[in-house]
Amino acid sequence: MSTVFSASENIKTWGSAGSHLRRINSFTQPKIDEHLKQILHQVSDPEIPVLTVLDLGVIREAIEVDGVIHIKLTPTYSGCPAMDVLGDDLKAVFEKLGKQVEVQLVLSPAWSTDWISEEGLQKMEEYGIARPLSELSDKEALLGNARIVKCTNCGSTNTRKVSQFGSTACKALFQCDDCHEPFDYFKCLK
Ligand SMILES: [Zn+2]
Repeated sequence: MSTVFSASENIKTWGSAGSHLRRINSFTQPKIDEHLKQILHQVSDPEIPVLTVLDLGVIREAIEVDGVIHIKLTPTYSGCPAMDVLGDDLKAVFEKLGKQVEVQLVLSPAWSTDWISEEGLQKMEEYGIARPLSELSDKEALLGNARIVKCTNCGSTNTRKVSQFGSTACKALFQCDDCHEPFDYFKCLK
């Protein structure tokens, strides 16, 4: 993906005063009120329930202003049906607490697998989904040029791609040639 600079929404929202231009698809620290984090951790990714929205890095902003919670959500994949569910789940968890909540979708900068927290990546692996490799390694693995995706069952890298699409479009199905277990690999997305 080429580097794009933008002076729009994301800079206004995320750029601190006086900061220089940044790559918009690089990770910028989200702005999340401390007291909202515990609540946000109750909302899970519909597709990988062990991951919370904070693990995924899809919450770009969550602030409380005059009793109203304002949330900015960046979908993992635009058009991903799980994101509608996520928006509804977010509203529900705050409304249950008697809070008014507004969820806004922010499409730029686009979400990247780099935004998944280290804790999230570990949970993902324990759940049986191999973590995304770097962009280049990912390509090699998916083309079948390199055996580098680590089996989530036995840790071997003697694995191969079975199908470009696993249980969802964002995953590929792999199989281990040592323990013979099939498993999902979360594809790198930049
Ligand atoms: Zn294995």
